[in-house]
Amino acid sequence: MKKHEGRSIRNIGFFSHAGAGKTTLSESMLFNAGVTTRRGKVEEGNTVSDWEPEEIKRRLSIDLSVIPFEWKDRKVNLIDTPGYADFIGNVMGALRAIDGGALLVCAVSGVEVGTERSWKSLQEKNLPVVIFINKIDREGANYEKVLKSLQEKLSERITPLFLPIGKESDFRGIINLLTQKAYYFEKEGKGVREEAVPDEMKEAVAEFREAMLENIAETSDELLNMYLEGKTIEPTLLEKSLKEAIRQRKVFPVLCGSGLLNFGVTLFMDFMADYLPSPEDMPPVSGINPKTNVPAERVPAREAPFSAQVFKIISDPYVGKLAIIRVYSGLLSADARLYNATRDSEEKIGQLISLRGKNQEIISEVGAGDIAALAKISGIYTGDSLSDKNDPIVFPVIEFPEPNYLAAVKPLSRGDEDKISQALGRLLEEDFTIKMERNTDTKEEIVAGLGDIHLDVLAEKMKRKFGVDVSLTVPRVSYKETIKGSTKTEGKYKRQSGGRGQYGHCWIELEPIARSEGFEFVDKIVGGSIPRNYIPSVEKGILEAMQEGILAGYPVTDVRVTVFDGSFHPVDSSDMAFKIAGSMAFKKASQDANPVLLEPIVNCEVRVPEDFMGDVIGDLNSRRGKILGMDPEDGVQIIRAQVPMAEVFRYSVDLRSITQGRASFIMRFSHYEEIPAQIAEGIITKAQREKAQE
Ligand code: GDP
Repeated sequence: MKKHEGRSIRNIGFFSHAGAGKTTLSESMLFNAGVTTRRGKVEEGNTVSDWEPEEIKRRLSIDLSVIPFEWKDRKVNLIDTPGYADFIGNVMGALRAIDGGALLVCAVSGVEVGTERSWKSLQEKNLPVVIFINKIDREGANYEKVLKSLQEKLSERITPLFLPIGKESDFRGIINLLTQKAYYFEKEGKGVREEAVPDEMKEAVAEFREAMLENIAETSDELLNMYLEGKTIEPTLLEKSLKEAIRQRKVFPVLCGSGLLNFGVTLFMDFMADYLPSPEDMPPVSGINPKTNVPAERVPAREAPFSAQVFKIISDPYVGKLAIIRVYSGLLSADARLYNATRDSEEKIGQLISLRGKNQEIISEVGAGDIAALAKISGIYTGDSLSDKNDPIVFPVIEFPEPNYLAAVKPLSRGDEDKISQALGRLLEEDFTIKMERNTDTKEEIVAGLGDIHLDVLAEKMKRKFGVDVSLTVPRVSYKETIKGSTKTEGKYKRQSGGRGQYGHCWIELEPIARSEGFEFVDKIVGGSIPRNYIPSVEKGILEAMQEGILAGYPVTDVRVTVFDGSFHPVDSSDMAFKIAGSMAFKKASQDANPVLLEPIVNCEVRVPEDFMGDVIGDLNSRRGKILGMDPEDGVQIIRAQVPMAEVFRYSVDLRSITQGRASFIMRFSHYEEIPAQIAEGIITKAQREKAQE
């Protein structure tokens, strides 16, 4: 591939609801551009972008893939993003690397949840967007209906530029409203035959073209005047104005075709090359100089100091870590030392690579506006800013959604615990929407992700890449035990067998204290009924007994123990004997002090569109949730609730199905609360049964 920079580069992200046809369309593009000699099929698992086994098995894009190709003397860096909600983390990364988005919509299914979500992300980043209505060849395709719903649901500025000729099995051509010509497909779609607009479509063309001109004219007075005066509009003026309107997001053009048949794809590629903005058309990128904390900017010029951001890490046990970067300014050559401005660290670049699915091409330099990968690097993470050491800049971090779908991860073969943490450690580096934490109460390794498929894929990657077989199960709840009453009891440990005996004896008072106060130990021994040096032994014995409560073996909390009396033996008393006495006293006291089970409660905030409010609240109630309040915000309702943690480990997946994926939530541990007796009974019986089986 020849060298490209600035004006000749297009960084374009592919977005859609899962299954709209991104992978298939990119196959056609690569074929048209001569990168491949045949088009892979999703069904056959041989596409360029979805090549990881986890993707092939599910016929689903999981990772983002960077697929560069040349077209019309331009280099297009296509970034195929996953459409499925569990992998949204990859979309967040891609949004940093692109200058425009191509939103694919299926001509049969129309606007879906993933379409709306992608649109929202692209809007938040103020990115220009082109829409491609795909699958016009499929049975049930309806271009006009889909167009209308796009305009109604997403934006009035969504403006058709292409109209399909025929549909379903009769789909055979496209009318371009800019050139006012018809294009019929030939030779597997690679070639097109230009003809005049067929008579029966002239009326529709005139109507759509008028709407198009009106929208474009909004950004160009020159065009507006010509249009109002009824003059013929110069193609060059139209082109210039349209480009500007797209860049300013005044117009979101709509094209159409079939990725599968490769119909309309070359026209789409032409459009990308001609009309979508290059890195140089975009505003400078802002950041902060980490040395001075003063805001700074970088213009996408080769002469500017080097700056880039890592938007994706891929980790592989053989090749090591691969960092995919978007260069914002300057030039990076493969033999340079790399300065990581985020971490103020330096390292040598192993290799500089141009990526194409799993194929890699080694390159010697990469310039402003382009995308490349760094191989054999270590101290670099997703979101890190790389820059000229003498002129450092740190760009804003990439914000990832908080994972809250939880599972306990265990090795299938004993002794693999260490391997799990190692493998997870590496995989966490490539996916910031996965978190890992050990629950010290339940002694389980907990992983959090965005959904069930997300974690299943994680487990498969652990096996394939790191050779560890794991099981994922619903985590144990870290219940606790406490008491509601107070009592005074003694514990006496006495052994007299032959030689030296054992003697420890204490009186304690056990009382409840406020929730989350933990444990208090009070020493009220007077007159030496227990010698000073044995009092810590009593406390130790109590603490040990508290590890396993008498109800169901969960740790005891929120209690005060006062030791106020006891006795000793000048020869037989020992640390050990007083420890045992303390433990005995505590266990006995617990029996008499009305012991109860506590469960963790989380604060939950659910953002949900009005239509689904009733269902979401009903569901929260059925999870023993308490609704604390509701507030409207930006057209959605925010429901605040407290729910037992035991009921929400898999809430993200359930909420998605209740609301068709239109809601989101955050969850934080709040406090412990007494479990209703009926439910506690079940937990106690289960714990006792498990204990008996040990
Ligand atoms: P992605 O999830 O967006 O990457 O979508 P895929 O490219 O995996 O396509 C999903 C399914 O739709 C596959 O079975 C494709 O063969 C099919 N498909 C993709 N594009 C078209 C198209 O233009 N026409 C028809 N009829 N089917 C298509």
